[in-house]
Amino acid sequence: MPVEALQDIDDDVRRNIEKPKFFDGINVSEYRFSENGFDWHLVRFVSNERPKGPLWIVPHDDENAAFDAMIAAVKAHGGVGIAVNSGPGSARRQSGNGICGVRSGTTTSCDPNRNFDAKTPFFTSAFLSHAAASQPVIALHTNSPGFSGDGNGGRGEITIYDIAAFKRGEINPRHGGTFAVNPAAEMANADTLGLTAFLAREGKPDDTKSKCGQAIANDGIHFWHERVLKSDGSMSNYLALNRPDIAYFNAESRSEADLAIAAARHQIMVAAYLKNCVASGDKPTP
Ligand SMILES: [Zn+2]
Repeated sequence: MPVEALQDIDDDVRRNIEKPKFFDGINVSEYRFSENGFDWHLVRFVSNERPKGPLWIVPHDDENAAFDAMIAAVKAHGGVGIAVNSGPGSARRQSGNGICGVRSGTTTSCDPNRNFDAKTPFFTSAFLSHAAASQPVIALHTNSPGFSGDGNGGRGEITIYDIAAFKRGEINPRHGGTFAVNPAAEMANADTLGLTAFLAREGKPDDTKSKCGQAIANDGIHFWHERVLKSDGSMSNYLALNRPDIAYFNAESRSEADLAIAAARHQIMVAAYLKNCVASGDKPTP
């Protein structure tokens, strides 16, 4: 479909439609379905030249820099990008009335990145059916500055810092985290990090994942091995528990008023992951 057809229903398209060549070389399609009381609208962006590549996902519609970074990544590296469109605004959660992912009981708003589960097969496969063999799934997120209790009004909990230690006045990486080695100024904030997931029952990340994480840190990017015990419904948890054959990377960039600054960090993290963790050719290391 022509991307213009989406400009009235997707703010991400509207924001970028006037930029010269922004959507060039990309085939756009949409997918609507209902599941468990929520109506979903996913928009898919496929590289015309290199449709076989990573699967890029942007679950949070309010994370505008992640959307812009996803389009840039599809152009630079090929593959398929899928974004959740919550409606003409930029809502983080989908309105509805039903069961959201792993949560029990009904709710009127569903966080898309808590909705990957066996109980949501349509939603989950709407993304993963586009994951090409031997290609990674790469999630792009923006991250609100700071964390709750940081003394600066921060919120959320994604940070490279050990929050408990920070509150005692010590600066340490969180469990499973590695600080960036000599980060460039734009990468030197604690809210910008790359992560992969490993299963708690395996005790620690395997050698491949350890090497991947250390190499990314050596390239000046904070890195976190997320330990997964029980799924929270996020893509990282879902894949670690259910599809360990699929390699996964999540790039979290601190949100900025200037979207281009945050999106540029995504590109740096993605390039480091693809360089260091995708073993040979297009074969990723799960
Ligand atoms: Zn997000």
